[in-house]
Amino acid sequence: MNTSWVWLGDHLAVDFANTVKVVDGRTVELIGTREEFNSWYELVPAPLPHIDIRDSELVSLRTLRDVALRLLHAAAAGEALDTEDVSSINRTVRASSISRVLGATVGSTRLEAGDDFPALAGVLASAVVDLLAQPNIANLAVCPAPDCGQFFHRARPNQRWCSPGCGNRARVDRHRHRRNSPSEDGR
Ligand SMILES: [Zn+2]
Repeated sequence: MNTSWVWLGDHLAVDFANTVKVVDGRTVELIGTREEFNSWYELVPAPLPHIDIRDSELVSLRTLRDVALRLLHAAAAGEALDTEDVSSINRTVRASSISRVLGATVGSTRLEAGDDFPALAGVLASAVVDLLAQPNIANLAVCPAPDCGQFFHRARPNQRWCSPGCGNRARVDRHRHRRNSPSEDGR
C-alpha cells in the first residue's frame, strides 16, 4: 500500500499506534513490509535508534504495536489497562537498557539508547509509558471518519475528526447515505 503518512507528528506513541487504519470496519496494516516500515521510520519526527530492520524484527515490532494499540484504545475509552499488556510494555523497556537523562534545558529530558532492535523497541515502548503516564489524557481520541480510525490529540474539546480531510470525508459520506436512503427521497 502506498501510504503518505499525513498524520505523522503527534506523540511518538500515537504515531506508532497509527501504523494501522480502519477501512470499511476492517483493520488495514500499514507496516506489513520492511519498505512500508522504512517509509514510516524515515518520516517519523521523533529521534529513533538507527537500525536496518529484519523481517523477524518487524514481526516483533508489529506485536508490540498491537499491544500499544490495545492500551491506547482502552485509555481513549476511559477503560482499565490490561495487566498483561502493561507487563509486556514494561518488559520491552527493561530489556532495552535505555536511560532517560537530563536534557540541555530545565524541564527537558532525552533518551539514551543504543542502535539495535531492543533499543528501537524500548524507545517505542517508553513512548507508550510516557503517553499513558500523563495524569490527564482526556484529549486522546479515535477519529470516527470513514477510512481512518486513527488516534489523535484533540486541540479543542469538541474536535471530532483528526484532520479537516477526515471531516470532509465524513460529511460527504453522510450526505451520500442520506441521498441513498429511501425514507428521505420522497417515496
Ligand atoms: Zn481521521
